[in-house]
Amino acid sequence: PSLRLVVIGGGFGGASAASFARRNHPDVQVTLVEPQRAFVTCPYGNLLLGGERRIGQITHSYDGLRARGVTVIHDRAAGVDAAARRVRLAGGQSLSYDRLILSPGIALRWGAIEGYDEAAAGLMPHAWVPGDGSQTLLLRRQLEAMPDGGVVGLAIPANPFRCPPGPYERISMIAHYLKRHKPRSKILALDAKEGFSKQGLFQDGWRALYGDMIEWVPGNRDGKVVRVDVRERVLETEFGTRHKVDVANIIPPQSAAAIAREAGLANDTGWVPVDTRSFEARAAAGIHVIGDANIPGPMPKSGYIASTTARQAVASAIALHRGQNPPEAVYFNTCYSHVGEEYGISVVGIFRPNADGTAIVEVPNSGGVSPRGDLPAQRRLEALHADAWYDSITGYMFG
Ligand code: FAD
Repeated sequence: PSLRLVVIGGGFGGASAASFARRNHPDVQVTLVEPQRAFVTCPYGNLLLGGERRIGQITHSYDGLRARGVTVIHDRAAGVDAAARRVRLAGGQSLSYDRLILSPGIALRWGAIEGYDEAAAGLMPHAWVPGDGSQTLLLRRQLEAMPDGGVVGLAIPANPFRCPPGPYERISMIAHYLKRHKPRSKILALDAKEGFSKQGLFQDGWRALYGDMIEWVPGNRDGKVVRVDVRERVLETEFGTRHKVDVANIIPPQSAAAIAREAGLANDTGWVPVDTRSFEARAAAGIHVIGDANIPGPMPKSGYIASTTARQAVASAIALHRGQNPPEAVYFNTCYSHVGEEYGISVVGIFRPNADGTAIVEVPNSGGVSPRGDLPAQRRLEALHADAWYDSITGYMFG
């Protein structure tokens, strides 16, 4: 009988895994479990806020995976029995597997910021998980409804979290929109951290493109938001400063998605330790955890990494099931960010697992970030590379 691969989660990790399995191992049976009928990417959601994309341009159907022979079930995995190798679905069905690929993404830690729960997110959106795209659209509508001269407040979490440069691309794209339509407005970015990804490049771009529109407050200058008052639209920091804003975007602290934690795969950090060659969970044989839910060592929680590691995880799952060794691994990452119109920057990293699969190390003298300086041709080119990256990764996942 052919190997039964069940994939939970049809996002960057899961859709890449299903696509890779069907492209490279046509003898493997692939079942994908995903509650959403279509996938709205977080990448390029910031461009929607900036007015550079519409929701249809970042929404992808599962029909392409079906055409590749993947059985797509629109349901939620409700439980995993690792010993019996079965997944229970919320709709009552139960699926047996030989190997499970788990890529359920993140959970937002409701209540980690006092007053910020699921209901609060209906007024102060996070726009940090794909869902049906409604969070990003809500934030966009709030920006449109804000009067010129208003203040947009952001709360940004400590590490680790999904997409290290994401909040700063978001600040950029909100500024891009405000500069055109509400130039007297301000952005107040309250950060729990002292520094961030591509910081010099972002701040150069902010000064050049947006003057003094953006104020970024680091954690050591009382940037950490600990409480929100949704009704008063107030963000309150660690030392009790109350910032009244017109629109608030709260990016709360995160953990691995519920299904991974409930299956007992996470440690007390809330994330899932894995073998860094096969992505098999330390806590359970036969379950390979990819994407943002795992502990990726020095690699970022990015869609790019979710997709690269998906391929390694599937190849390893199949090899291990057949009594072979996982293939040699190398993991690539590029995180592009749009700072303005035709203004892109990037950071590249190349990583390898160590020999016993206990850690991931960055390959010495590899990778790097875009050069600093007044380099309009370089920025234009990187914006084009970013667009090409988006088309190629989503084409691979869903095409
Ligand atoms: P996801 O892509 O979130 O997919 C998880 C899927 O699992 C979801 O579809 C969910 O519905 C499903 N799921 C959850 N629980 C269950 C369950 N119990 N049963 C079945 N299905 C379930 N990365 C980049 O590389 N480049 C970028 O430019 C970039 N920009 C970003 C911008 C923003 C604003 C944000 C928020 C993120 C960005 N990222 C970017 C990061 C990227 O979105 C994530 O790293 C990536 O989505 C992680 O993939 P994943 O498979 O772990 O999770």
